[in-house]
Amino acid sequence: MTNPNIFTSPIYSVAEDGSGIAKCDGYTVFVKGAVIGDECKIEITKRNKTYGFGKLLEVTKPSQSRVEPICPQFKECGGCTLLHTDYETQLKIKKETVYNALTRIGGFEDIFVHDTIPSVPNFNYRNKSQYPVGGTASNVKIGFYAPRSHNVVNSDSCAIENPDARIILDAFRCWMEKYHILPYNEEKHTGTIRHIYSRTGESIMVVIVSRTREIEHLEELKNELLSLKLSKPIGGIVVNINSQRTNTILGKYDYTVFGEKFIYAKIDDITYKVNYKSFFQVNPYTTNLLYKKALELCSLTGNETVFDLYCGIGTISLFLARNAKKVIGVEIVPEAIEDARENARLNSMENARFYCGAAEEVCPPLIKAGEKADVVVVDPPRKGCDEKLLDAIGKMKPDKIVYVSCNVSTLARDAKILHEKYGYEMKEAFPFDQFPHSMHVEAVALLQHALN
Ligand code: SAH
Repeated sequence: MTNPNIFTSPIYSVAEDGSGIAKCDGYTVFVKGAVIGDECKIEITKRNKTYGFGKLLEVTKPSQSRVEPICPQFKECGGCTLLHTDYETQLKIKKETVYNALTRIGGFEDIFVHDTIPSVPNFNYRNKSQYPVGGTASNVKIGFYAPRSHNVVNSDSCAIENPDARIILDAFRCWMEKYHILPYNEEKHTGTIRHIYSRTGESIMVVIVSRTREIEHLEELKNELLSLKLSKPIGGIVVNINSQRTNTILGKYDYTVFGEKFIYAKIDDITYKVNYKSFFQVNPYTTNLLYKKALELCSLTGNETVFDLYCGIGTISLFLARNAKKVIGVEIVPEAIEDARENARLNSMENARFYCGAAEEVCPPLIKAGEKADVVVVDPPRKGCDEKLLDAIGKMKPDKIVYVSCNVSTLARDAKILHEKYGYEMKEAFPFDQFPHSMHVEAVALLQHALN
């Protein structure tokens, strides 16, 4: 008798987690490891009402887009979910993801989505690499969390990390092993080292996240790190203390073992001071292009007041300030706002002002007090904008809203609100590949008031 759970199907498209999407008599099945354009033999392993999950038994006809993943831990890691798909196809998938979200969720039927701007290079592109630390004193594991768990899997390489980050990590691992430094045990909430991360700009900063304030043999670690041959000098080594039972990586308190708690990074001709706690785009190769597109869509003449909401360390704000009369930046992280103010001074931009707080709380009273933006730029985190903020913007009626998004579903949702409640139209969108080999897509879109 044939098994009703086994079937053969083409892979029609790609799901948010990189799984291929197959059909079994019209029933949608998500298949890990399948590439768009493959034909696969699949076994359904879990059935829900409208969709199921399947195991890839055999690729009966491989897709033209299928490539050998260059990372040995591709299946375990869950980071680069498109590593088995060639780069050209990845760019097409991302363009389609933006188009589908804007038409299906946003309801924008005649939207024009441009080709995805690629990242050059698309390997070893990250300027920040962050690794959880686990295991035991005799078997230290540093790498990534196994999917849907907090078990740390050790990794010896990563296709997208900065090569300096790996040299630092290897030295760190040797130091832990040599001095029997305890990794953090999440279950028992014992041990010491929770995470290590490094960020590269004009210099490199290393951050060690520890459960305890004291870490033994830090002096030896410092000397070891400072003696490494890296492409940039180390500008700071920081211990961040996170003594809580929490999934949040960073704690409140910290101290420096060496240098500063920030680095300088350059985008275009602007120098930014970046605190280790502040958000900073991870792909330096596409960020410049992304910000330039945001600036271009603002069409500034020098007379405008611009709001840059979710401004981080003032990255986009300062790009805009060069061409605007006045820029007002709003950001929730106090350290980032301090950096933003310092960055305005550093680059002699006196027409940028910054407010610390949630954009949805800060903007309504600002607007009430008489501030009026001609152009608003928003660049929210994945959950998108708070509706209270969209209402405040909509009522203020800026000519243009430039939406920079790292999650097209919330971009589409928010744009729909601005369209239906306040008459903003969206005609085109620009995907950028900030995160090659993952399904994440960054996009910029212009919303314009229908009356303009
Ligand atoms: N535009 C910046 C930062 C974008 S990331 C850049 O490109 O570098 C999103 C930022 O929004 C983060 O800095 C985060 O701290 C901030 N943020 C999150 N929720 C916020 C809120 N409710 N109000 C204001 N800022 C917020």
